[in-house]
Amino acid sequence: MSKKCVGKNIRYRQVHPRNVKPEISFRETHEKEQEALSFLEGVLAKNSNVVVASSFGKDSMVVLHLCLRIDPDIKGFMVTTPNKPVDTTVFRQHVIKEWDLSWQKFQVFRSEEPAPDKLYLTDPKECCRINKVEPLRKALKELKPYAWISGLRGTESDERLEKHSKIEEQYGIVKINPILDWTELDVWKYTAIHNIPVNPLYSKGYRSLGCTPCMAPGGELERSGRWQNTPLEGGECGIHTLETSDA
Ligand code: SF4
Repeated sequence: MSKKCVGKNIRYRQVHPRNVKPEISFRETHEKEQEALSFLEGVLAKNSNVVVASSFGKDSMVVLHLCLRIDPDIKGFMVTTPNKPVDTTVFRQHVIKEWDLSWQKFQVFRSEEPAPDKLYLTDPKECCRINKVEPLRKALKELKPYAWISGLRGTESDERLEKHSKIEEQYGIVKINPILDWTELDVWKYTAIHNIPVNPLYSKGYRSLGCTPCMAPGGELERSGRWQNTPLEGGECGIHTLETSDA
């Protein structure tokens, strides 16, 4: 990727596995699973108008699976971009068919604002705003849920751990993060135990998935491959950024 990007390098603080707080890393996955299920049961029992967001990455698949265990009719949505990897699109179609997620139950949103060609090379933050953040706002505006459920995990960065909680508000809507305290290992253990379909990009070495031009396989930390050599390296697309969500 080009190094001629606008903006200051933000230096995202990714969390090295050895620095994950003991209260998170030493807890068993099955305990976290039971806790997440009880938490989601409580949320879904009180409010029927709740939707689950999915990117069809590993974390989203776990959250979608947890939600479907409680409510097989729960509605979901996805934000897609012109640069989504073909693997993710094909995988999405496969899961929608296998898990019987009809379009009435699962909607796909995309940007209506055309982004300048290859904007990701010069201003990835703006490219993400156009292609990810705005379609997410549109989805929430159209679906009008009481709450949306996300696969946000705290151990991906210090910022996530410090600033987010399992119930918060974003874009003026309640946001539920049931696996906020799960590690990358917890996600893979749950995936293996429940035989959840896996996006084929992981078998090609990617640890964190996004758009094709903005991700690379490998890396020491989970998000090392995201937006390499840009001001957003290892960072966030803005979808989960609380500071900008009311702008
Ligand atoms: S991940 Fe890259 S291509 Fe995708 S919206 Fe963000 S900057 Fe654009």
